[in-house]
Amino acid sequence: MLTSNRMKGLHPYVPGEQPKDRIYIKLNANENPYAPSVKVQNAVTEFIKQHPEKMGLYPDPDSNELHAAIADMLNKTGGVLCRAKVDGDKVTPSDEDKIPFTVTPDMIYSGNGSDEVLSFVFYAFFDSSTKFVMPEFTYSFYPVYAGFYDIPMDNVPLKSDWSLDTQEMLKRASANKGGIIFANPNAPTGLGLKREEVRQMLLKASKDEIFIVDEAYVDFGGESCIPLLKEFDNLVIVRTFSKSLCGAGMRLGYIVASPELVNIVTTVKNSVNHFPIDALAQVAGKAACEDPAYYVECSKKVADERDKFYNFLKEKGFYVLESKTNFLFAKHPAISGDDLYKKIKEEGLLIRHFSTPGIEEFVRITIGTAEQMASLKAAFEKVLKQAGL
Ligand SMILES: *Cc1c(COP(=O)(O)O)cnc(C)c1O
Repeated sequence: MLTSNRMKGLHPYVPGEQPKDRIYIKLNANENPYAPSVKVQNAVTEFIKQHPEKMGLYPDPDSNELHAAIADMLNKTGGVLCRAKVDGDKVTPSDEDKIPFTVTPDMIYSGNGSDEVLSFVFYAFFDSSTKFVMPEFTYSFYPVYAGFYDIPMDNVPLKSDWSLDTQEMLKRASANKGGIIFANPNAPTGLGLKREEVRQMLLKASKDEIFIVDEAYVDFGGESCIPLLKEFDNLVIVRTFSKSLCGAGMRLGYIVASPELVNIVTTVKNSVNHFPIDALAQVAGKAACEDPAYYVECSKKVADERDKFYNFLKEKGFYVLESKTNFLFAKHPAISGDDLYKKIKEEGLLIRHFSTPGIEEFVRITIGTAEQMASLKAAFEKVLKQAGL
């Protein structure tokens, strides 16, 4: 055989389709329907015009300016955009989201999308000799990394209402001594745990094991665990520019954690790729963080459309989970998830269907603009009518 034995452990992630054959309204990959802020567009254009020579030089390996901007944005928004208060250009956290300390740049590590960040986090904190704990249904990249790094996993089934079984997760974590990871709000369910629920978990979990919370969707209405960093040194919070910061194409993700843990992940990065974030992405990311007011507005719009579509689906007889994210997870008693996905695709819109046993009856619908959601509503009405529903 030409290949290494390790190749047998690889089961690559399958992203939402990006078809080229026809133009679809894309509501299948949880991307943000809005473009990045004009300030981002200007910063990138100016950078190329004013400093073309910088494209020929290595970027800052530690993205220092970007980290300062991320920390500043978190302090201004409380880490939950859709509840932050905007007064002109001034942005302040809602009372419930206010972080009880100042997030400093040395608490931030960033990388080429949170997928890459997660990969280094897995490498740094999970071990091949011990199982780590994760929910049975969560972000489907976690099992991919488990295979990549040959780390055994312990999948804990969700409760019957699709929420995380926090007690069982803790029980297994204390038996395995291998750490814990989950997304909050979770994907693909969209359900979120309250900060106090996570705090209770952390109080009971071992301080010697890593506790990773992936907050990819928290800006759309979840509760961020950043305030808990004051109390817990074993907590790593993973976040991304891809969803609430309209930046999936910029490939930027980051962690918020103690400076000690940030240094550990930086060591992994420096052993794989010194420069995961190119010069342009650093400029774009910094500019995005400097315009929180724009992103607050975008995430409020997305959250509003989500709640409207939630009500529509309910009226149409769907079982819909109460989402704190930019997507809805829903199923209908009389039409299969696969059927619905295919029929909606015929209407020119893409939503996501997972054939994974246990969730195959559901579809996952990314929330788009008001216009896109009106088209989706029309498509749903047509398809349901054709099915006699
Ligand atoms: C989208 C998503 C990510 C990955 O984001 P990128 O920064 O685009 O790599 C990570 N975690 C969860 C739960 C996600 O949904």
